[in-house]
Parts: sequence; C-alpha cells; structure tokens
Amino acid sequence: TWGQVCNELLKTVGKNNYTTWIAPLKPLELSEGIVAVEAPTKFLRDWVSRNFADQILRELRVAGIVAERLEIRVPDARPIPAAEVAKPAAARRAPARATEAADLPGAPLDARFTFDSFVVGKPNELAHAAARRVAEGGPVTFNPLFLYGGVGLGKTHLMHAIAHELSIRRPEARVLYLSAEQFMYRFVQALRERQIMDFKEMFRSVDVLMVDDVQFIAGKDSTQEEFFHTFNALVDQGKQIVISADRAPGEIKDLEERIKSRLQCGLVVDLHPTDYELRLGILQTKTEAYRAQYPGLQIAEGVLEFLAHRITTNVRVLEGALTRLFAFASLVGREITLDLAQECLTDILRVSDRKVTIEEIQRKVAEHYNVRLSDMIGPKRVRTIARPRQVAMYLAKQLTTRSLPEIGRRFGGRDHTTIMHGIRKIEELQGADRQLAEDIVLLKRLLES
Ligand code: ADP
Ligand code: MG
Repeated sequence: TWGQVCNELLKTVGKNNYTTWIAPLKPLELSEGIVAVEAPTKFLRDWVSRNFADQILRELRVAGIVAERLEIRVPDARPIPAAEVAKPAAARRAPARATEAADLPGAPLDARFTFDSFVVGKPNELAHAAARRVAEGGPVTFNPLFLYGGVGLGKTHLMHAIAHELSIRRPEARVLYLSAEQFMYRFVQALRERQIMDFKEMFRSVDVLMVDDVQFIAGKDSTQEEFFHTFNALVDQGKQIVISADRAPGEIKDLEERIKSRLQCGLVVDLHPTDYELRLGILQTKTEAYRAQYPGLQIAEGVLEFLAHRITTNVRVLEGALTRLFAFASLVGREITLDLAQECLTDILRVSDRKVTIEEIQRKVAEHYNVRLSDMIGPKRVRTIARPRQVAMYLAKQLTTRSLPEIGRRFGGRDHTTIMHGIRKIEELQGADRQLAEDIVLLKRLLES
C-alpha cells in the first residue's frame, strides 16, 4: 500500500517535491488508526509534517487506511507533538542552559548565533576579534566592550556567540544577556513589586553582563540611573561587561554624559556596513547549510553573486532573501536561477535597487568599449558596436528589475525578443570568451560601487 500511496503522491506533489520530501520516508506502521513513518532527519520530519501530512493522510484513506494523525519518527529522537512542530526551529534548539540552568532572567539565546556561523570580513574583523577575546575568558582587558553599528550587521549575533562560547569554556560563570528594553522592564517591575534589593543583588552577582541595544534607555531617567550603578558595581568587581548600540556612545542622544563617558572607557568598536566580499561569504556559508536541508536543489552559477551585488542594506534582508529563494524553489520544484531570484524577490530587490539605471549602464559600457553613447540605442549592426550593446542589455537585465519590453524601449525601441536574443548571446559567449567575462565582471563592479 505504501507504494500505491507514493505513486499517488508523486502525481499530486510533483516529481521534485516527491524526491526531496516523500521518497526518503519509510513506512513503519500502517494500520487502522495508526500511521507511522520514519524520516531521516528532524528537518525533513518538520517540513513533511507541516506541508505534506494532510496529503499523505488523504492518500492513505483512499488506499483504505484511516488515521487521524501522521506520526513521523526520526531515529533516536522522541516523536514531537504536533503543537511543538509549529514553533520556529530556533526556539526549540536553543540550549537549555542559557535560559534555565542559571536562575538569571536573561533573554533566550539563538542557537544559530555562534562564532562558527559568523562570517568574518574586513567590515567586522575588529568587532569579531574583540568578541572572541571576551569569550576566551582570561583577565578582563577592556571593559566594557562596546559594539556598535547599523541594523542587521551582527551585533546580537556576536553577543550570543560570546554567551555560547563562555558556556563551554567557563560553565561555572554566570552570564547574563538581555536587551536594554528587558533591563528596563525588569527594573520597573522590581520597583512596582518592591523587590528592588533583589533586583540589585541579582544584577550585581553576574560574572559577565551583556546588554543589547543600549540606545533604548536614552531618555529613560530612572532606568539610566540604575543602569549606571549596576555598571559601576560590576566594573569595580572586575566583571566583564559587553554593550551594543546602533551608534557610538557619544552620539546617543538623551544619554547622560557620565554614562557616555563610562561606556567609552573600554574598547569601542564598530561594525561597518558589509562589503561585497563579506556578503558573498555569508551567502555561500548559508547556502552550504541549506544544501543539507534541501537535498537535490540546484543553484545556478551567478545567483549568489547577483544577490551580494544587489542586496546591500543589511544581512538580515540578505538571509531572508536566500531563505525565501530556497523555500520557493523547493516548493515549485525548480532550480534556483537568476530569473527565479528576480521573480520571487522583486519586493526586496526593488527596495535595495541602488540607482543603477539603464542609462548609466549604457554610458559605462560605451565608455568601456570606446563607442558612442548614441550607438547604444542606434541601429548600427557592425560587431564592434552590436556586441557592446548586447553587453549593456545583459547588464540591464542583471542589474535592474526592468522587464524585457522596458529594456527594449530604452534601447531605441527594440522589441523584447531582440533584447532576449542579445542577453542569450552574451550568456553563451561568456563561457568561452574569457575577455568578455572579465569585461562583464569589471563593468558590474563599476556600476555597483
Ligand atoms: P544586529 O543585532 O546588528 O541588528 P544581528 O546580529 O541580529 O544584527 O544580525 C542579523 C542577521 O544577520 C542574523 O541572522 C545574523 O546571524 C546575520 N549575520 C549578521 N552578520 C553576520 C555574519 N558576519 N556572518 C553570518 N551571519 C551574520
Ligand atoms: Mg540586535
């Protein structure tokens, strides 16, 4: 019967989904009321239970086996009740110790935010090195460590990584990580419940205190005051403090001067905006991780480079784009190509569309090949002009979100099939023509910087 069920599923979910998600399942028990299958990994189990459980049950019913629920077992893992499966994976995987073992009311740590998963590049190497130093324990060399930088550049990631690392190297250390907002919330609560002594005692008993997004307490006077005292008490005891904020201490408005100067007396390092190399590195690392999750999913050459060029705002958006791309590709059973990326990420790409216009592309290409700008849109068909024009068409497609007809209009009202032909031509030639490939890499760099 399982074979029958599989045959039907193959028709309804499509070949790709079938091979990825259904084929790896092994039937364990198929009887009235109880249906259990085995999945090789937890990830596969969760995915199947979220996306295919109903269809599997339906096909089983057709085959004469009626059950309420599909139980998916993973070797050496307890079956997960359906309710828990719905939770985000991170929450389930978070290590118990950080949140429960110590009686510290910290914020939960994201198990994925480790030093191992942090990609180091020029823009963040200093912050990374400083965080590592703190995590290695040893004598306190700079206090506090103050990390600052824009949204999504890895501040929280680094702080969690410190906590994870400390839990391994110094399991006895009391490490408290929380956001400034949580600090305020607990403080206010302690005031209200007349437990301020407990509050003080608790915060003064930690070995390492990490407060994320400290800019939040700007303008909140009594919270600032308490934070200042906590801070001083810990520094006096030689305890390590790590602080993050979205800007440098001196630039946080409505923060008391004495706090600013306190925050500055350790090591202040900033996370710079990512550069192309770092973004590509992050994408490659994440892709490796996804390969295990989505076995069999192909990703075409140039897609990661395209994303690294185009999504420059923040790493969270970059990651989100990749996640969506993999999920989408696996659902529709297609290879991840540039077209697919453009199709499924239009909203993100539009936002981070950095003023690269078709006109600009034409101008740069014309300059590069030493032809007239007017020839880009003109009718001449000699190779020395037609080829650069095709390069410009190709780049217009790659670097902007314009459709083929729109590109056609900007190339002197050419038809979209002409544009498509031009793009194809360049795609073909690039493989064999090393010079052309180099020209294109160079032009992209020029246009993106
Ligand atoms: P911030 O706290 O600075 O706003 P986060 O630490 O929350 O940013 O990072 C946002 C997302 O980007 C997280 O998922 C994080 O894992 C990821 N990220 C940021 N920088 C890196 C990096 N260098 N390597 C790997 N992942 C990164
Ligand atoms: Mg953060």
